[in-house]
Amino acid sequence: ISQAVALGIDIGTSGARASAIDRAGNPVGFASAPFETPDEMRQPRCWWNRVAEAIERLAQTTDLRSVEGVAVDGTSGTVLSLNRADQPTGQVLMYNDPCPDAAIIDSIAKEAPVGSTAAGANSGLARAIYLSRLDDAHTVVHQADWILMKLGCPGHVSDENNALKSGFDLEVERWPEWVEVAGMDVSKLPLVYRAGERIAPVGGFLQKVGLPSSAWFHAGTTDGCASFLATGASTIGDAVTALGSTIVLKLASDAPINAAEYGIYSHRVGRFWLVGGASNSGGNVVRALIGDDRLDDLTEKIDPSRKLGLDFYPLLRPGERFPINDPQYPPRLTPRPADDSEFFQAILEGMTEIERLGYQRLRELGAPTLVSLRTVGGGARNHVWTSMRAQAMGINTLAARSVEAAVGTAALVLSRLDNASA
Ligand code: ADP
Repeated sequence: ISQAVALGIDIGTSGARASAIDRAGNPVGFASAPFETPDEMRQPRCWWNRVAEAIERLAQTTDLRSVEGVAVDGTSGTVLSLNRADQPTGQVLMYNDPCPDAAIIDSIAKEAPVGSTAAGANSGLARAIYLSRLDDAHTVVHQADWILMKLGCPGHVSDENNALKSGFDLEVERWPEWVEVAGMDVSKLPLVYRAGERIAPVGGFLQKVGLPSSAWFHAGTTDGCASFLATGASTIGDAVTALGSTIVLKLASDAPINAAEYGIYSHRVGRFWLVGGASNSGGNVVRALIGDDRLDDLTEKIDPSRKLGLDFYPLLRPGERFPINDPQYPPRLTPRPADDSEFFQAILEGMTEIERLGYQRLRELGAPTLVSLRTVGGGARNHVWTSMRAQAMGINTLAARSVEAAVGTAALVLSRLDNASA
């Protein structure tokens, strides 16, 4: 029987999940604890309660006595403030909450280096600065950091993936001076570890549910990086395309790529850089122009070996960021074929070309060529589209091992266990 060696915890907008994987990376245990009401999503105490529940459920079905490491991922850009006693003050800003003080956004815009992922209207750093100035705010941490603290990890620690949107400098590996100048008291920010790095031995709660005292806390990551790792992508050249409401490309690269004009930035994840870009095209166009209930029927009528070649660029409104950067870029959805299955086919062909162009653009900017391609999201189950894509990109797509971020976070821990024994 395969023993659980790594534990991954995911806290997100719908609840908490816990996953255990064996040394080969295969999931051997999984449990979840969903939020019961939508407002639990905004309450740190509920995050923790659900995490504890998920872990306790996992422990009921999975032997955790051989676990060597545990880490947590959370929604990227969600921050909360803690008081002097390390208790939440009740102030939380979620990943998509605008910073209530526009002056903070302005001062970041003035100080941040060109293309910084911490700048802009949805700046994570702006949220952190705002919270840091409220009464009682002694420390500002990310969602995943706080769960790690509740699990018993000492100090205020974060990982470089969560810290990136708060202004952390990956090159010099510290909070850069401009963050302070922009208005952040950096003594209120956590100490940042590399994603997956070992931090401290586990304590109380985790030992109570069965982990051995020899297990370690590892630095975690964001939900986005964790979802990439969950699929089984693990080495340079491995790519994951998410075909959801938008098309999102992610690729493990040997070098970081930062191209702000395309919205491209890089996370360091273990032994590679995770680079990616997002198109405005995707399932949102399919849903609006075709309707989700007819997709299976229409798909069956499509012959992918007979290309229509209508050169569509499916967008609901003008404007594209990646793989073409043009805020006025016009949709191309004509001539509309009389037959709806052909219309659907032309949209799929257009989105296939966007994906192909996307990986080509990443390549032009310095990323490696594709070694493997995995797919997640609603469009992944369209087998006709899958074969169109395989043809266009000249590569067979692999099945995603898992779509659970918790599995990816466990895989991050595992990659560090391998390092430790190498
Ligand atoms: P989200 O990005 O919102 O999480 P999902 O990953 O759930 O999205 O994917 C939903 C999208 O996938 C919808 O826009 C839907 O139109 C599209 N979709 C679902 N099934 C298919 C299919 N068989 N072929 C193409 N697109 C599909």
